[in-house]
Amino acid sequence: MPLSVSLVPCLDDNYGFLVRDEETGATAAVDTPDAGPILDALKERGWALDIILNTHKHGDHIGGNQALRERTGAMVVGPGEVAERTHVDWVVKGGDCVSLGATEFFVIDTGGHTLGHVSYYASGAATVFVGDTLFAMGCGRLFEGTAEQMHHSLQRLVSLPGDTALYCGHEYTLANARFAIHAEPGNAAIAARLNEVEALREAGAITLPTTAAQERETNVFVRATKVEEFARLRAEKDSFRS
Ligand SMILES: [Zn+2]
Repeated sequence: MPLSVSLVPCLDDNYGFLVRDEETGATAAVDTPDAGPILDALKERGWALDIILNTHKHGDHIGGNQALRERTGAMVVGPGEVAERTHVDWVVKGGDCVSLGATEFFVIDTGGHTLGHVSYYASGAATVFVGDTLFAMGCGRLFEGTAEQMHHSLQRLVSLPGDTALYCGHEYTLANARFAIHAEPGNAAIAARLNEVEALREAGAITLPTTAAQERETNVFVRATKVEEFARLRAEKDSFRS
């Protein structure tokens, strides 16, 4: 199933995403850090916006919703925690299915960063939008959920087929890679990826998407098999300065 994903850099280090079902031209914005760059990207491409998919309630993921709705008439889809902060047309939870043209997105509960965080998985296109749950070589901070909940959410995401493309909400890969090599100094796959990421960032390039298989190999939070080990790493990362 053809699906194209355009990354739209927003704010300091956020990404918004324009996702287009190539068969029908139906287009979604996944999270809306800032309406301006997203509207510019739509205009550049000559696309209309049909749906906004929100992963969680933080301002740097929903801040552009209202302006985008006003300008495009897009329908807003998001979890209940987003509906408590801004207008949502369809409140979704894990197990729901959202259609974008001929592409189906399955909603996966991925709480931990916030309690009601969800991810949107297009299995037919081997693509998942994970918000601030999993970052390339890292994971979101535990603002609301428990270590156990986040650990479970991460394991759920990396249990998807290895070639699944994961799109996360921030460009944090370099800092995550530096923490990863500190946590697992002998891991050759992490060392190799750190080199790659350094070269990409020096060239001003984007490091996304990652894949489920890459994260299983090089994400120390995913590689933590026990919840206690995950919790220790998360606490250590919170105060780590690379
Ligand atoms: Zn967040």
